[in-house]
Amino acid sequence: MKLIFVSGGVISGLGKGITASSVGRILKSRGLSVSAIKIDPYLNIDAGTMNPYEHGEIYVLDDGGEADLDLGNYERFMDLELTSEHNITTGKVYKTVIENERRGDYLGKTVQIIPHITNEIKQRILHTARKSGSDVTIVELGGTVGDIESMPFLEAARQLGRELGREENVMFIHTTLVPITGSVGEEKTKPTQHSVKDLMGLGIRPDIIVGRGAEPLTDAARAKIAMFCDVDENAVISLPDAKSIYEVPLTLERQGVTDLVIKRMRLGPLTSKRDMSDWERFLKQVMEPSTEIRIALIGKYTALADSYLSHLEALTHAGAERGCRVRVSMIDSDRFLDGSPEKLVEDVHGILIPGGFGTRGVEGKIAAARIARENGVPFLGVCLGFQVATIEFTRNVLKMNGANSTEFDPGTEYPVICLMNEQKGRRDMGASMRLGSQTVRISKDSLAWGVYGSADVRERHRHRYEVNTEFIDRLEDAGWRFSGRSEDGLRMEIGELEGHPYYLATQFHPEFKSRPGNPSKVHMGLVNASLAYMRDRKNAAL
Ligand code: GLN
Repeated sequence: MKLIFVSGGVISGLGKGITASSVGRILKSRGLSVSAIKIDPYLNIDAGTMNPYEHGEIYVLDDGGEADLDLGNYERFMDLELTSEHNITTGKVYKTVIENERRGDYLGKTVQIIPHITNEIKQRILHTARKSGSDVTIVELGGTVGDIESMPFLEAARQLGRELGREENVMFIHTTLVPITGSVGEEKTKPTQHSVKDLMGLGIRPDIIVGRGAEPLTDAARAKIAMFCDVDENAVISLPDAKSIYEVPLTLERQGVTDLVIKRMRLGPLTSKRDMSDWERFLKQVMEPSTEIRIALIGKYTALADSYLSHLEALTHAGAERGCRVRVSMIDSDRFLDGSPEKLVEDVHGILIPGGFGTRGVEGKIAAARIARENGVPFLGVCLGFQVATIEFTRNVLKMNGANSTEFDPGTEYPVICLMNEQKGRRDMGASMRLGSQTVRISKDSLAWGVYGSADVRERHRHRYEVNTEFIDRLEDAGWRFSGRSEDGLRMEIGELEGHPYYLATQFHPEFKSRPGNPSKVHMGLVNASLAYMRDRKNAAL
């Protein structure tokens, strides 16, 4: 059992998740199998009940776990499929311990943070790492060293170091900030020194220190950090702001992180030589595009780009395949109707309506779906985007005025989107939606078939509402075709518009399975159609 803990110091948001993902990626490039665990010190059981403005997008796993977005980074960088066990929260840990206590499992003992909470944390890490069967498991400690709520996790990590063997089985990577201040632009190492001191005070001596900042670390800063934090100079790694997150594995590799880890953890004998060629090729495609398209993303959490992270990544993956940079214009659906919405036709080459909950901004999304439908603008609707496209079609093509989802208008005369049967009577909000991977059956001779090229696909879901079966025949007769359905045929999974270049909407979330070099099929379809739209418009202007 080999564990690499990744902690963070000074401030949050340093890119610890990308660092952890990148370490995993470079180890994988040497033929090692890797897995990853994210620790979130909040009391929520999972991320499912949180607003995206709290921590960004809620990432959905294959088994239906609703997790922190870093799980998405791990899956994309290391090409993994993780489960909800790979996201450990304070909520999960306490829930188990309190349930054990109520059952009487602690045999009359006083139940305490140490050892009961720390034992539960250790047990969860060991269980998940063992079950993954991988050579190395990366464990990212959310939060910042010094936070009260992170303490039990750091203590558990320290104990695991002792128990498994600090010499070769457990490593600590500490990611910290090295700010530049003053007119001479001097790199300041003091915050790093203090944060490492905090870590050492908890009994953890870092093996590698990753210095984050706007610029590469100077030799002087590196030497100072090594000296005062008691690590080798070659274990001080410089990670300046990158143009693309996909550069980070190569930046770490170049500074010898892989060799450092392999030597220290006595990993091997290694079966294959270093091979990052696929990654390098992908990065080149991302960094040196030959063309550019603009896609409008119309959502309600647009003030925080991380709310839609997996869509942005999926578009990057798809764009890279065509040597194309995808510029995403984030449009606040709540304000969309205040401006000149019809200008979208001129301003962008494609429209994406992602998932969402609640009434605010829905009318803006419905208007955008109409603009795309009527003007031949390539369109992808996902989850709420699929429901919105269906509502728009019902209102404006079937002329059922006021058609809506019962989520937004419980009394609507035309409830074309309604609560799924099994949802009726459910009161709990946590982990109670239709979640995770389900089979979608695709009809032959459809746009969806062309996009996926196969009959059955597995895609991830997260919703409570669905297309009302009473409307299906009328919708299909008028040209809104359901070309993907659940295996029993009763649940509408994909909608597409006949006679439009690319108007496709999915009840599921294809963005979560997109990978560098293997993009989500429907995002790929959107990029292809947007490129064609741009070309046609240019030709028409000549
Ligand atoms: N609010 C809608 C539902 O619950 C859509 C959910 C989503 O977009 N993830 O069905």
